[in-house]
Amino acid sequence: MSGSLVIAGLGPGGVALITPEVQRALDEATDIVGYIPYVARVADRQGLTKHASDNRVELDRSRHALEMAAEGRRVVVVSSGDPGVFAMASAVFEAVEAGPRDWRDLDIRVLPGITAMLAAAARVGAPLGHDFCAINLSDNLKPWEVIETRLRLAVEADFACAFYNPRSRARPEAFGRVLEVLGEICEAERLIVFARAVSTPEEAIRVVPLAEAQPDMADMRTVVIVGSSATRLIPREGAPWVYTPRSVPS
Ligand code: SAH
Repeated sequence: MSGSLVIAGLGPGGVALITPEVQRALDEATDIVGYIPYVARVADRQGLTKHASDNRVELDRSRHALEMAAEGRRVVVVSSGDPGVFAMASAVFEAVEAGPRDWRDLDIRVLPGITAMLAAAARVGAPLGHDFCAINLSDNLKPWEVIETRLRLAVEADFACAFYNPRSRARPEAFGRVLEVLGEICEAERLIVFARAVSTPEEAIRVVPLAEAQPDMADMRTVVIVGSSATRLIPREGAPWVYTPRSVPS
C-alpha cells in the first residue's frame, strides 16, 4: 500500500464548517496526528489510531507523520482553522526540506479550512472587505521587535488587521503593549472586534472602540480584528454590523 500525508484544516470549531473534502480525508485515514484538543475533535472509530501531542512539538510531530506515511499509512495531520495559517502545513514542509530525500516523493496534500479571522469577520459583517493583514502576535518563533514593527507598519498603512494568538500564557502583558501601539497610531473610535471561540458553544463576540479595549478582552481562543480608518458600524436593533467599504476615495 502506498502511504499518504494530508495536512487538513478542521475549521474554527463548528462541525458545519468542516469542508466535505477534509471530512473525507478524516474518514479514510489510518492515523490522525496533531495537537491534543484538535485530535480530540476527530471521532474515534475502528481502524483509526490517534497520535495527540502537546503544543510546541510541531517538528517532531511532522517527522512522525512523514515516517508513518513513508511506511504506507494514510496519515492526516490536523490543524484548527486553515493548516496554512500559523499552523502545521509549514511545519511539515520544514521537516520535508530538512529530512531524507525520499520524503519529497511522498503523496502530500494540503486541504484548506476556514480560518478564524474569516469565521469571525463573517459573524460581524465584513470588516475584512478591503485590504487587510494577518499577524500572529505569538513571540514563540519570532522576536517581539519584529511583531511590533509589523504591527506598526500595517496599521500605519491603514490595513484592517487580524491578530492571532493575541494573549499567550507565557506573555500575558504583550497584548496590553499592542493596544498601546494602536493608541499611538489610531483614533480613539477605531473599531476593534474581539471574537472568541467562534462557531463553538462558547462563542462570544464584542465590538468596541479602541478607547474601550482592554487587554483582558482577548485570550488564547480569541481572534482580534482591528478595523482600518474606513471600517464602519451600521447601528440596528441588537448587534451592529461592522464593515469596511470596498473603495478608498482618490
Ligand atoms: N490555523 C488556525 C490558527 C492557529 S493559531 C486558523 O487558521 O484559524 C491559534 C489562534 O487562532 C488562537 O489564538 C486564536 O487567535 C485563533 N482561533 C482559532 N480558533 C478560533 C476560534 N474558533 N475563534 C476565535 N479565534 C480562533
